[in-house]
Amino acid sequence: MGRYDGRVAIVTGAARGIGAGIAKRFADEGAAVAVLDLDEGQASATAGGLGAAKALGVGCNVTDEASVQDAVARVVAELGGLHVLVNNAGITRDNLLFKMTVDDWDAVLGVHLRGAFLMSRAAQKTFVEQKYGKILNLSSVSANGNRGQANYSAAKAGVQGFTRTLALELGAFGVNVNAIAPGFIATEMTDDTARRLKMDVDEFRRLNAEANPVKRIGHPEDIAAAAAFLCSDEASYITGQTLYVDGGAKI
Ligand code: NAP
Repeated sequence: MGRYDGRVAIVTGAARGIGAGIAKRFADEGAAVAVLDLDEGQASATAGGLGAAKALGVGCNVTDEASVQDAVARVVAELGGLHVLVNNAGITRDNLLFKMTVDDWDAVLGVHLRGAFLMSRAAQKTFVEQKYGKILNLSSVSANGNRGQANYSAAKAGVQGFTRTLALELGAFGVNVNAIAPGFIATEMTDDTARRLKMDVDEFRRLNAEANPVKRIGHPEDIAAAAAFLCSDEASYITGQTLYVDGGAKI
């Protein structure tokens, strides 16, 4: 018996990184999992590797209203329902304010905020009708401010306000809405940051581990463990919260 037996979960941006880690953990605990990502081939490859009884890879751009609606409808039809939504898809376009372009700003706000909004709005219909649902949004320690990330920081702080508001609106319908704010997690996103800073990836990871109170960097499994708790029925009295999973980096 798994905590997620009989549940259907969507994880966006789940072809790799944190999303793939969350998808794997849900599958291990019994869920049918839909991996949504820009490239359907990559999404399907990840879905196929989850070892789930039922899994589906769907090409979806979370910033595109029609793409989101089609993807959610397809998951409900092919996996037989929807119980959990994780808004994980994300991008960075880092730059100091004076060098940040309007495209950098719009792209980041678009994926994190418009994307989470469109996905949540599409999923809430099923959640409210069945009086059951879990939404988990990915924020970041950068919500508290991070040099070179005005766009990303604003988006991730916005995710926290979005989370609290959905919790207020949807609580009466049996829907819990929470957020996780990760610290440094070893993924393509942080490896890209190292390369942009012209640093060796391993050295970048080592320095981040050294600066962290628990003296290590995080891995997708660290976020997946917290996600599996927050989207489970054990957490049904927890809503509107942002859990920092950062080794104490924010302290
Ligand atoms: P990642 O390895 O870069 O993976 C992000 C995934 O999202 C990629 O597969 C990407 O696809 C997909 N994606 C991008 N735009 C999309 C769109 N419009 N529609 C659908 N999918 C899209 O990033 P990650 O490190 O796993 O991060 C996952 C989440 O955690 C993000 O929200 C990120 O901001 C947050 N986070 C990460 C860290 C960290 O240290 N890694 C820390 C705090 C918060 P493509 O490859 O095709 O672009």
